Amino acid sequence: MSADRFVFKLPPLPWPTNSLEPFLSQAAIDLHYDGHHRGYVEKMNSLAREYPELQNLSLEQIIQRYPGVVYNIAAQIVNHDFFWKCLSPNGGSPTGNTYALIQTQFQSYDNFIREFTDRAVNHFGSGWIWLAFNPSTKFLMIIDGHDAYNPITDGYIPLLVIDVWEHAYYVDYQIRKREYVNNFWKVVNWKYVETIAQERIFGNII
Ligand code: FE
Repeated sequence: MSADRFVFKLPPLPWPTNSLEPFLSQAAIDLHYDGHHRGYVEKMNSLAREYPELQNLSLEQIIQRYPGVVYNIAAQIVNHDFFWKCLSPNGGSPTGNTYALIQTQFQSYDNFIREFTDRAVNHFGSGWIWLAFNPSTKFLMIIDGHDAYNPITDGYIPLLVIDVWEHAYYVDYQIRKREYVNNFWKVVNWKYVETIAQERIFGNII
């Protein structure tokens, strides 16, 4: 077994697998993380053996440089890692600069929640719904990302994401996708969102 076999690693979960219940059961998290997320890492390592030039790049660099299956697999690893970090057993509400920006640009926090929820529930097919910041316009945007889409592809700064692939909710919610999205808000790790916003948005704006 060559040393390059494990170039890309499965990032650890930020919490125990049973700690998001009842939003998601331990069985659902185990399947999603140990099955799907790990599967993408294994596929990425296969690709890296096939195309050794990938071994010297970060996943973010790969997302920005490669199309097709290489993009899809790299983005799925990054997206899942980001999704896990956006969740916390101790959810809450945004505060400070992030809350103010959401309120200003979506008229109200409730309006933002409503719009994001509707976009997630109505998204057709597999994908990711993102809250992202456009550095050119200085505006927040809700993006319907299809398949493995990640906003860094278009130069946007990702702030928050929900996985709306069927595998993300089917174990616990079957076809009750709206219930999944509604419960998501109870476990959003706004502290993490705010940390990114502070580093990548407010640090530049102010
Ligand atoms: Fe997923």
